[in-house]
Amino acid sequence: MPPHAIPFLDLKAITETQRADLTAAFNRVLDSGWFIMGQELKAFEQEYADYCGARFCIGVANGLDALSLSLRALGIGPGDEVIVPSNTYIATWLAITHVGATPVPVEPLAGGFNIDPARIQAAITPRTRAIMPVHLYGQPADMDAILAVAHAHGLKVVEDAAQAHGARYKGKRLGGHGDAVCWSFYPGKNLGCLGDGGGITTNDPALAERLHELRNYGSKVKYHNEIVGYNSRLDELQAALLRVKLKTLDSSNLRRTAVAQQYLDGLTGVDGLVLPQTYADSASAWHVFVIRHPQRDTLARQLAAAGIGTVIHYPVAPHLQAAYAGLGLAAGSLPRSESIHREVLSLPMGPTQTDDDTQRVIAAVRSALQTPAIQ
Ligand SMILES: *Cc1c(COP(=O)(O)O)cnc(C)c1O
Repeated sequence: MPPHAIPFLDLKAITETQRADLTAAFNRVLDSGWFIMGQELKAFEQEYADYCGARFCIGVANGLDALSLSLRALGIGPGDEVIVPSNTYIATWLAITHVGATPVPVEPLAGGFNIDPARIQAAITPRTRAIMPVHLYGQPADMDAILAVAHAHGLKVVEDAAQAHGARYKGKRLGGHGDAVCWSFYPGKNLGCLGDGGGITTNDPALAERLHELRNYGSKVKYHNEIVGYNSRLDELQAALLRVKLKTLDSSNLRRTAVAQQYLDGLTGVDGLVLPQTYADSASAWHVFVIRHPQRDTLARQLAAAGIGTVIHYPVAPHLQAAYAGLGLAAGSLPRSESIHREVLSLPMGPTQTDDDTQRVIAAVRSALQTPAIQ
């Protein structure tokens, strides 16, 4: 019998570990007869804010809305520039574009994946209003350095933490460093619901109030609309399910960390293979485990042939997407980001992944990289 396939992410197995509690939460909402803006949302917002060490959490419809509503709540719009990593998921850029502002990309640290704080200064112009660090792949960006340059220039900081639930920067969980910290609860994230969901954590009461209005038609009192708002709400069912999932976020992140450590130990010293950097003063949420290799596509094919699922996060840099052709950033203009997008590959990762499966992935990567096809 051939060995079983190892999926990139086994969502079904993850959900199965909490089936009874998820079903109970579902039934509680069903029985309540109340589906939007109720007690489950209030309770989840309080629990998640507490978890993050932030004063407020505002649930919204998805991670992209969390980002764009935060920018809008901070008054960022047409004519403004926002500094964004050149290497990120496109949603970070889209949020800037959706409010009418212009994304100004800054390259990542050499050998890393997150924005290089030392390069931010040179990208600041009189139109710059905010910096949007992304904690990509679950690894915290260097917040102290980013906040220092932001404060020196009077800029807002809107964090994209969609991949970093539970990650710690200098001992403190993400969620309260910047002005607004944006979360996605898409099913595949470390804290994911069973549909779309998102949220913003902040310590700023005025910003929290603005976000409460913006997500709900611009009203504080039903049918009284003070600003031109949106319909972007986290529904009761998703909030109830997230309360269940939040209880195991720390234990599932610990399990991800153990998988990552096995990969780091088992894949050290493989010729041409670059492993993700770790930083002594921060703890990654290990949303994904991303390796680099110049012959990434061949490696992915060989792993697929061995029954091992991988994903590329991401195949095309944002500035080279057709959607951003209008910015006029040609191929070669952001070389660090471009080489990352050419070389990255995410190995199977998740809280239910067994040690045996992780060892099989390690063996398959090692064997693939010793075959002449790839060297
Ligand atoms: C998933 C993700 C988003 C968007 O979240 P959605 O809930 O899918 O809208 C934004 N930024 C990053 C880095 C993400 O990984």
